[in-house]
Parts: sequence; structure tokens; C-alpha cells
Amino acid sequence: MTAPSPGRPLSHTERTRHRRLREQGSLDRAELDAVLAAGFVCHLGVTVDGTVMVVPTVYGSDGSTLYFHGSVASRSLVASPGTTVCVTVTHVDGLVLARSVFEHGINYRSAMIYGVPRLVTDEEEKLAGLRCLTEQSAPGQWDYARRPSRKELAATALLALSLDEASLKIRTGPPDDGDTPDAELGLWAGVLPLNTSWGALEPAPDLAAALAPPPHLVRRAGAVV
Ligand SMILES: Cc1cc2nc3c(=O)[nH]c(=O)nc-3n(C[C@H](O)[C@H](O)[C@H](O)COP(=O)(O)OP(=O)(O)OC[C@H]3O[C@@H](n4cnc5c(N)ncnc54)[C@H](O)[C@@H]3O)c2cc1C
Repeated sequence: MTAPSPGRPLSHTERTRHRRLREQGSLDRAELDAVLAAGFVCHLGVTVDGTVMVVPTVYGSDGSTLYFHGSVASRSLVASPGTTVCVTVTHVDGLVLARSVFEHGINYRSAMIYGVPRLVTDEEEKLAGLRCLTEQSAPGQWDYARRPSRKELAATALLALSLDEASLKIRTGPPDDGDTPDAELGLWAGVLPLNTSWGALEPAPDLAAALAPPPHLVRRAGAVV
């Protein structure tokens, strides 16, 4: 595992060179870290038996490596090591409502990572990667819940993808048509922000009534993401 290097700019390979809407591109690795830290579901694009599959899956990022996991029988995970994949992470921040439909858009933060994933076989790294992945979506649960048994570990494939070749695009702000003839149409234009938040905890129906939720979950319930 390489150490995170937040000061290093993002790579600028032929694959990651922004072409369309390039003004929304960023080469700031700290911004990539922030986009990855803000989510826990990615889309893994991989060719399986000659067909492209784009699979939504949970991930964890430690700043230099993205981890994703699943059953050892998962076709997308079996196919991924040794082949180039493309992983995306997307956050929608709002609808950009212009005077014309043509100029409508989305305020967003999105990352694309290219690379050849590695199957993690070392037990220590596998546990560290699974911890990273678990803590990304449910901080505090790795120490609270029972850790994987040897049998469960053997049934789980963990893949590591370097963040060396990644690109970032971010759009913020109002619609761009304020200085066009459409501004004279007398139509409302602006942004409808989209916020996501966690709801109230819902205890399992078979939970003993005396069992209170742990503080890290109580703190998170109702929080804005
Ligand atoms: C939620 C959302 C909705 C979108 N809706 C539309 C839409 O309706 N129509 C539309 O044209 N575009 C949309 N985009 C932008 C879209 O993702 C592409 O950036 C854009 O269409 C250019 O695509 P392209 O195939 O020409 O890629 P190119 O510009 O050829 O891509 C070159 C390289 O730039 C990088 N790159 C491209 N797009 C992204 C990205 N989004 N995030 C990170 N890196 C990127 C990749 O490394 C890629 O290999 C949307 C983006 C998001 C996040």
C-alpha cells in the first residue's frame, strides 16, 4: 500500500484528460479525497465475458487505495483482478434550472478511477481493507460489531484499486444563461439544492427492549450527510 500523498496533483493521463466541460475538471488530490470521503457507494465498470457490467457496490478509501468487496462468487469481482476497470463515485448536489431546457444541468461532485485491481490475499491487509470499507459507511461499527470469522473471510473477496489514475469533475453555482437572450424571457431560474440526511434509528423487531443503540449510531441518526 502506498502512503497517501495529498499534496500530489491528480494524474493527467490520456485516459483522464478532461475533454468536454473541462472547466469543471479539477486536478486537486485533496478535492478527490473529499469526494471519496463523502460517499460509500461506487459504480464498478468491468467487462465480464465480453459484456460491460456497471455494478453498484460499497467502497472504502484510505487516500491512496480504494477497496471494494463481495462474495468470492461475484462475477464482477472474479473478473476484475488483472483487467482495467473504471470506478465512479457521484454526489448530486442540486438541479440547475435554467430558462431553457437546453441549459439545465446538475450541480455535482464526481470522481472516476481507472486501474487494474489487485485481489488482497494477505490476511492483515484484508482485515485493514475491510475495516476501511466498513468504517467508511458505518463509522464505529468495526469496533462495535463482531469481526469476520476465518470462514467469513474466506468467503469474501477484497479488491484494492490504486487511486493513482483518477479524475474529478465538480459543478457548483447558478445556471449559465443569465447573460443570454433567454434572460429576457421572464422565467424563474436558479438552483434546487438536494440534501441527504440519515433518519431515526429503527431497532430490529427481535431486539431485546433493554438494548440501547451505541452512541456512535445515536449521534449519526438524523444527521445531514
Ligand atoms: C450526476 C451527473 C449528471 C450528468 N449529466 C450529464 C448529462 O446529462 N449530459 C452530459 O453531457 N453530461 C452529463 N454529466 C457530465 C458527464 O459525466 C461527462 O463529464 C460529460 O458528459 C463528458 O463526457 P464524455 O464522454 O465526453 O467524457 P470525456 O470528456 O471524453 O472524458 C475524458 C475523461 O475525463 C474524465 N471525466 C469525464 N467525465 C467525468 C466525470 N463526470 N467525473 C470525473 N471525471 C470525468 C474521465 O477521466 C474521462 O476519461 C453529468 C455528470 C454527473 C456527475
